[in-house]
Amino acid sequence: MADDRVKVSIVCMRCGERFVLKGSRQKGKIDTGFKRCLCDNEKEFDIDVMDS
Ligand SMILES: [Zn+2]
Repeated sequence: MADDRVKVSIVCMRCGERFVLKGSRQKGKIDTGFKRCLCDNEKEFDIDVMDS
């Protein structure tokens, strides 16, 4: 299985904090290891994959 590395931009929809992380795409699912924002938000994110 190919491990496709991607850059992912995650914006918290509660406080607006933005994170840029490296993730891996496996079978169309992005795994970044990102768990929660500084504001304890764990679910409401705007996630954008930035293919390089
Ligand atoms: Zn937040």
